[in-house]
Amino acid sequence: MTFEFVSAALDSRRQQNLFRQTRVVESSTGALVEVDGQHYLNFSSNDYLGQRQHMSVMQAWVEGIGQYGVGSGASPLVTGHTRAHQALQDYLAEHLEREKVMLFSSGFAANQAICQAFSKTNKVNILADKLMHASFIDAAMSSGLPFSRFLHNDVASLSARLSKVTGDCLIATEGVFSMDGDSAPLTTFSDLAKQSESWLMVDDAHGMGVLGKNGLGSAEALNLSQHDAPILMGTFGKAIGTAGAFIAGSADLIDYLTNFAKHYIYSTALPPAMSHATLASFQSLRDGHQQGKLLENITLFKQLFSSSRCNQYPVELLVSDTAIQPLLVNDPKTCLAMSEKLKQLGIWISAIRYPTVPKGQDRLRITLSASHKPEDIEALVDALDLAVAGVLE
Ligand SMILES: *Cc1c(COP(=O)(O)O)cnc(C)c1O
Repeated sequence: MTFEFVSAALDSRRQQNLFRQTRVVESSTGALVEVDGQHYLNFSSNDYLGQRQHMSVMQAWVEGIGQYGVGSGASPLVTGHTRAHQALQDYLAEHLEREKVMLFSSGFAANQAICQAFSKTNKVNILADKLMHASFIDAAMSSGLPFSRFLHNDVASLSARLSKVTGDCLIATEGVFSMDGDSAPLTTFSDLAKQSESWLMVDDAHGMGVLGKNGLGSAEALNLSQHDAPILMGTFGKAIGTAGAFIAGSADLIDYLTNFAKHYIYSTALPPAMSHATLASFQSLRDGHQQGKLLENITLFKQLFSSSRCNQYPVELLVSDTAIQPLLVNDPKTCLAMSEKLKQLGIWISAIRYPTVPKGQDRLRITLSASHKPEDIEALVDALDLAVAGVLE
């Protein structure tokens, strides 16, 4: 028998309650999601601001189709880079006060591109937070560059590693962590980076849209200049509501990536109409309305949860002020059972298990959105009470 490892690997995943499969979403409107003919309140979306179905964003997409058609037709360096892409880049560069911006088809590709392009010509050391997203960790590991991880958000751990590094060094972290919802001490990290002449890279997939007065993320919220965070990565698939990603930085950095990042050079440019819609999404966030609604929901959830019966059981709500409110369950089987129970109660919260999170840190990753009404949040906490007690009693 050949390729026996395929079924063996699947069997092992099943035995450990770690097998995964995709599900078909029939419809998803506002905070509702329909799966297998059933409707659920969706607490597992990264559409934190409801921008996916914001009228002005959808309208811009349609308008863009009229102007450009549906696809870009080529990679950016051939004929795929349109006025719509340039306008989005210019908007981001201007408001983030960066010299240049470039677009990628996904955040995954952008993270891979950075590590791959740096591995090309020189020896850059990479120091990354232990909990960074798989798209970066995987890229750093396969780059062949010297790579180590520092303890999560730990200044002392980063300093210790920095002191051992010689030569160029990239410090990589996230603005808001995808699975924990907490934030990196970016200002302190940036000071450390500048002292050691390293470059700080911020992956702001979960800060984009949600933080900053124009929704431009952690860099805007904390006033991090290009000098403070020379590599800024953001994605559009989460709170911005579309898809794709960008990297912002010096003209030299962006020109370097444009010349050496294979994920950029050999991949079809984003659909221009979508870039047009992405720009409309950023513009619609400038009134702060959606961010305000999300904040109200976060406050309400934390307040209701603090007096919920869940606190009598061995589950732990991680400390987070963001849309991501993880409930640690610490065992994949229990976590799956709670997720199933919640489903019976009409609440959709995916069980996030190893290897997305470290072993033993399985969790219900609850995400809140501006699309939720206060009564949705009440229903969520009632259902959590029942599900946690039901599974653990
Ligand atoms: C989602 C995510 C990515 C990948 O972005 P996509 O555009 O979805 O490919 C990268 N980094 C972090 C932290 C993410 O959460």
